[in-house]
Amino acid sequence: MIADYTYSQPVRIRYGFGRMIPLLRETLDEMQLRSAIIVCGKHFEESARRLQALFPEIRAIYAAVQPDPQLSGVSKSAALARETGAQAVIGIGGGSAIDSAKYAAAIAPGSAEAEAYYRGKLPFPERPLSVIAVPTTSGTGSEVTQVSVISCGSEKKTTNHPVFMPKAAIIDPKLTLSVSPFTTMITGLDALAHALEGYWSKNHQPIPDLMAAEAVRLILDNLETVWRDGSNADARCAMSQASLLGGLSFALPKTAGCHALSYVLSETAHLPHGEACAFTLDSFVRINADARLEELCRRVGLSGSEELAARIDGFKRMAGLKRRLSELGPGITPDVLARGAAHPLMQNNPVPMDEAAVRSLFEALR
Ligand code: NAD
Repeated sequence: MIADYTYSQPVRIRYGFGRMIPLLRETLDEMQLRSAIIVCGKHFEESARRLQALFPEIRAIYAAVQPDPQLSGVSKSAALARETGAQAVIGIGGGSAIDSAKYAAAIAPGSAEAEAYYRGKLPFPERPLSVIAVPTTSGTGSEVTQVSVISCGSEKKTTNHPVFMPKAAIIDPKLTLSVSPFTTMITGLDALAHALEGYWSKNHQPIPDLMAAEAVRLILDNLETVWRDGSNADARCAMSQASLLGGLSFALPKTAGCHALSYVLSETAHLPHGEACAFTLDSFVRINADARLEELCRRVGLSGSEELAARIDGFKRMAGLKRRLSELGPGITPDVLARGAAHPLMQNNPVPMDEAAVRSLFEALR
C-alpha cells in the first residue's frame, strides 16, 4: 500500500541547450522583474558582464563566489542587492554560486547583519527577493531545493528553509561543457547520491522515487562518457537532466547517511562536497540494500545492489578519487569521523546508524 504524501514542486523550470539568454529574457519578462543582480564565481564573470550589456535589468554583479562559499560573500551580495534596489538575484554557477544567491536573496530584504540570520538570532525576512538559478555543473540540484549550504570560517552549515526556494531555474547544458573532468566526476556522483538518498530516505515518496530511478539510469549510462569527453553534448544534456531529477528526488524526502557524513569528511579532510559524498556512497548502498533498492537496481538494468556498489567504486577508481582512510591525511581516524553520526540527516537513513555503526563503516575503509 502507498503511504499518504503531499507533493509540490514550486520552481518554474526552463530547459534549452545553448538557450540561456532567451530563457533568461522570458523569465524576467514573465516574472515582471525590472532589477536584478548576478551572483557568480570568477569563471563566469565575463559571461555575466556580457549579460549585463544585454539586459538593462541587471544592475550589478558579484563575481567572487568560491567553493565552500563564505557568509562574508553572501553579505556583500545582499548589500549589493539592497543598494541597487534589486528585485531578484540571478545565481549562475555550481552549487556554491546558487546557494550564495539564495542566501543573499533571503536576507537582502532585512537590515541586520548576515550573521544574525546565520546564527538563528533573527528569523529570515518573510519575503525573499526572487531567485533565478542557472546551474553550470551537473550535481547539486540546488536550483530546485530549499537548501543553502554556506560556511562561516571553517563551519559549514546547511540550512533548509522555504525562503531559499528559487522562483525559476534555467537549465542550459551548454554551460556545463567547460567543467573539468574531476569536477564532472564528483558532481555526477553528488547527483547520484541525491537520487539514491531521496529514494531510500525514510521520507521517500512515489513521485520523487520515479525521478530518482531515471536519474540513476542517466548517470550510470553517461557519467563515464562526460568524464572522458566533456565536449559530448548528448551526454552533457543527459547529466544536466540527471542532476535536475536528482535535486527533485531529494528536495522533499531529504538526503540521508551519506550526506550526513559528507560534512565531517569535508570539515576534517577538506574533501570537496561531491568527493565527500562519493567516499561513503557505495558503503551505504551495501548498508541500505533492501528489496526496494534491489527493485530500483533491476529497473535501471543492473543485477542488484552489489553491482551498483561496484559501479560507484569503479567511478571513483577511474577518476582517482579518494577511497580509503589512509588517503585522507594524518589524524583522520574512524573515531574522529564517528562524530558524523550526530548530523541530523542521519535520522533519515533507513538503517539506524549510531556512532559505533559509523565507526565500523570507516574501519572497513581503512
Ligand atoms: P562548486 O559550485 O563549488 O563549483 C566547483 C568548481 O567548478 C568551482 O571552482 C567553479 O568555479 C567551477 N565551475 C562551476 N561551473 C563551471 C563550468 N561550467 N565550467 C568550469 N568551471 C566551473 O561545485 P558544486 O559541486 O556545483 O557545488 C558544491 C556546493 O553546493 C557545496 O557547497 C555543497 O555543499 C552545495 N550543495 C548544495 C545543495 C543544495 O541543495 N543547495 C545540494 C548539494 C550540494
